[in-house]
Amino acid sequence: MAELRQIVLAKRPDGVPTVGHFRLDQAPMPEPEVGEVLVRTLWFSLDPYQRGLMDAGKSYTAPVPVGGKIRGGGVGEVIASRHAGFAEGDIVLAGTGWASHALDHGDALLKLDPGLAPVQTALGVLGMPGHTGWVGLTDIAEARADETIVVSAATGAVGSLVGQLAKHRGLRVIGVAGGADKCAYAVETLGFDACIDHRAAEDWRGLSKEISTAAPDGVDIYFENVGGQTLNAVVPLMNQGGRIPICGMISWYSGQDVDKAMPLPRAWLTILTQRLRVQGFIITDHQDRFRPFQEEVAPLVASGQIAYRETVTDGLEQAPAAFLSMLDGGNFGKQLVRVAE
Ligand code: NDP
Repeated sequence: MAELRQIVLAKRPDGVPTVGHFRLDQAPMPEPEVGEVLVRTLWFSLDPYQRGLMDAGKSYTAPVPVGGKIRGGGVGEVIASRHAGFAEGDIVLAGTGWASHALDHGDALLKLDPGLAPVQTALGVLGMPGHTGWVGLTDIAEARADETIVVSAATGAVGSLVGQLAKHRGLRVIGVAGGADKCAYAVETLGFDACIDHRAAEDWRGLSKEISTAAPDGVDIYFENVGGQTLNAVVPLMNQGGRIPICGMISWYSGQDVDKAMPLPRAWLTILTQRLRVQGFIITDHQDRFRPFQEEVAPLVASGQIAYRETVTDGLEQAPAAFLSMLDGGNFGKQLVRVAE
């Protein structure tokens, strides 16, 4: 049988990673034990949280050891099964990581119906990122009609669903995204009321001014995906009783620009005076909300009322470069790697 190919962590980064922090390894093809299946990866997902897996130290999930495979979600075909619930040819959502094949316990797999939606949407709009956006908007922000929401990383996997769902629920939606093309897409295709290009802003004050023009009644919800100058810009615009679900802080994941962050006392003072509710959340704590998310969003995707976009990179060996590009805004929609047809 052919060898298994996988991308492993070659060394830990100190700051912004490069492709040299990854390595392509080969290993003998594993064989499933009783209760396991062998999956041939078709697609795998590149996600910002995988930057955190590269660092040692305390986080909400264990780091990848040096020499270990980069973990993550994938979609693949069962090519050998010793689990009663799965047969060769089944298409499944699995924890493939960045690898051509993976062994998985059947209990950790979800069978997908290729007739319902393109299978790779299980990694994006109908998978973990979509679930994250839905939980953040519904349960953490408790969004209500007629409120104003600002969404950062607005055209990304999470942000594009947050903004579209918010629009669907009757909110005024202001996106913040990097570049004129992304902003045009947010307004013209995703239906946002406005979108501000954070890369064109001179500084956070200029960005704040543009957002406040687009949000004349102030901001009730800031869906935080990025930190950085967008956070600086939005906090002063928050209305009384506002909510800030902290979903991600991608601009700081490699330590860049942390010294330009808003001083904590200023943020805290605003939290006090405006009675804000600021809540971090991690989607793995909300598995019980996966089914209600799917029940609402899958029909909206099927009917075309929710749009989604993908950036597809072909080839396992291209994953590190695609991942680094995504961290820097090079993706336009959900970043995927296609490993096999
Ligand atoms: P995206 O598809 O949105 O891709 C990342 C985007 O981040 C880039 O395209 C870029 O968009 C933006 N970005 C990168 N650097 C900066 C910067 N310096 N300033 C502003 N924006 C920047 O990724 P996801 O939708 O998968 O994830 C979005 C966020 O949600 C991430 O922070 C991620 O960690 C978080 N997340 C959290 C989860 C949880 O459980 N809490 C689960 C899943 C995701 P642009 O070009 O528009 O700037």
